[in-house]
Amino acid sequence: MPDVIVIGCGGGGPVMAKELAGQGLDVLVIEGGPRFADSEADFSRLENDANNPINGYLRVGPASRDRPAYPRSLRQDGFVWQVSGVGGTTLHYYGNCPRASEGVFSGYDGADADLYDTDHLFPFTFEELRPYYEWVEATLPVQTAAMGTKEATFFKGCEGIGLPHNTSKDVSQASFRAQQNSILQPQGTAGKAKDPVYPDAQGCTFCGHCFQGCSMPRGAPRNLKAKRSTDNSYVPMMLTADAWASGGKPATLITDAFVQRIHAERRGGSVVATGVTFVDGKGARQRVDAEVVVLAGGAVESPRLYLSSRLPNDNGWAGRGFTDHHLDWIFGVFDEDTGNSKGASSSARADFPGYGGLENGGLPPALQAFSMTFSDSGTVGGRGSASPATKAGADTLGRVVGRDLIEALSDVNRILNVLVLTDDDVEFQNRVSLERLALPDANGAIPRVEVNHRRRSKRTLRNREFLAGRAVALLRAAGAKSVHRVDWPPLMLHTHSSMRMGTSARTSMCDQWGHSRGVDGLYIADNSVLANGLGGANPTLTTQSVATRTAEHIATTRFGRDPWVRSSAPVSSIDDRVTEAVLARGL
Ligand SMILES: Cc1cc2nc3c(=O)[nH]c(=O)nc-3n(C[C@H](O)[C@H](O)[C@H](O)COP(=O)(O)OP(=O)(O)OC[C@H]3O[C@@H](n4cnc5c(N)ncnc54)[C@H](O)[C@@H]3O)c2cc1C
Repeated sequence: MPDVIVIGCGGGGPVMAKELAGQGLDVLVIEGGPRFADSEADFSRLENDANNPINGYLRVGPASRDRPAYPRSLRQDGFVWQVSGVGGTTLHYYGNCPRASEGVFSGYDGADADLYDTDHLFPFTFEELRPYYEWVEATLPVQTAAMGTKEATFFKGCEGIGLPHNTSKDVSQASFRAQQNSILQPQGTAGKAKDPVYPDAQGCTFCGHCFQGCSMPRGAPRNLKAKRSTDNSYVPMMLTADAWASGGKPATLITDAFVQRIHAERRGGSVVATGVTFVDGKGARQRVDAEVVVLAGGAVESPRLYLSSRLPNDNGWAGRGFTDHHLDWIFGVFDEDTGNSKGASSSARADFPGYGGLENGGLPPALQAFSMTFSDSGTVGGRGSASPATKAGADTLGRVVGRDLIEALSDVNRILNVLVLTDDDVEFQNRVSLERLALPDANGAIPRVEVNHRRRSKRTLRNREFLAGRAVALLRAAGAKSVHRVDWPPLMLHTHSSMRMGTSARTSMCDQWGHSRGVDGLYIADNSVLANGLGGANPTLTTQSVATRTAEHIATTRFGRDPWVRSSAPVSSIDDRVTEAVLARGL
């Protein structure tokens, strides 16, 4: 019987597992998807082979691609972009690691305090989380992004609209900056050689394939691959905890094993988590019990499992309050080279406290075509749509067709994309629930994801319009000869707060320790536990920092360990002890 079971091995689960394994606890991690043990062979980097939601290697589904993907039910056109497997959705991610806006935490009294979703703040202060941010930043590690032509073009636009340059990790005014990202900076021949091979090449090789899974540089030990998706960072650490932590004990990882139920029993006046039942890829069912259960299945699957396990939902907030940054996509077409498809995919950003942010998003051709033709406003030039989005100063609004489409796609390296990251409100109406009107999949009732896209709160809609206007102006100032607003339908790349922690027991599922208010011994350690949309900041760094804080709380309060984050130095995932253990154990 393990001390702790962690459900899900994506962005948050391995952080919890690594921290607890470092404290010598017996940790079992159960992941529903495959493990890409040989990333150079497993990641072909061909766009359809990787990203096809039905049978791509990065999809939501079981390990065997011959078996069907797991469906989601959506209320309107849209797509939930997540990945099953060791690394979870960080296999896709761009590694951007901004800290959340200070205004989304309790105790913030800056001049812009009223601009945020003040009804749904984090139940602790930014300063309380700072040491955990620093710990995760050192562990991944987070570095200033290596940049190229597309970032230079983005910065030119930022300067052109009068934004100042920010050189800090914290944001106090509207400004632009290089991303802080978890992609190792290029060294040696990386980015220069045609076939960059370790150790001559180290860090990011500028291959441009962040989206398809990072396996570069060729020949590098797994923990020294450039992108710090958790398969390359926290997972090697959790599996080698005895090598880098005194008294550490490697976690056990089971893959292609889907947890179908969290068990709980009534003890005295409380409901207490006791264990889980999972089904492996061959259909075998197994129950495992533990003192603590950590749910880290992501913002869709965590509420789904909680609800299908029929755990207490007294305030009705299980699955509610889902936030997604109400994303939008604006692109400009240039005469000159923008380097859109090259390098780390998104290395520059602009922040607008209280409104959200903008970042460049470099894409290879198929994803580029998808991103500019996926619209909630219909086809450019078509009849009016019900979307509240305006042109915001762009030349077109909607799905680009005809001459504009041909011209743009004739050379992806003359496009610059800007992703709009809205600081969106927590709203009761936006939620994950169990779909009763569709057939179940192999794991029971499928998740229904409802985002009332066109009727978001006034503040959310205002923020998105404001940011779209800034993005259009930025692209014009950068020299774009035409600018197009796509007005994405819900394209859920950033998904959060569906099992949120909060200041009020009436509107949150967890307390400030990620501890379920309804089930003792059940903790949440993925994006779903986030209290809100973070002010528009990409979520993973904050999820990982909150998970670290929760791990320390579990170890100290349940297993008698001493706190360690403020009293010891973090070990980096690229530390020689990790590398040696990874090589010796063939991980
Ligand atoms: C294209 C793209 C780019 C992105 N770029 C960035 C970025 O630059 N910066 C950033 O911060 N974020 C980025 N994100 C978002 C980032 O990937 C997520 O924030 C992060 O992966 C969320 O972590 P998670 O643990 O909540 O969920 P996930 O990473 O989705 O992990 C959940 C895991 O749990 C498993 N699981 C679920 N249910 C069960 C079950 N019942 N039993 C067993 N296993 C289960 C799943 O298979 C999955 O592996 C990006 C996302 C996309 C799609």
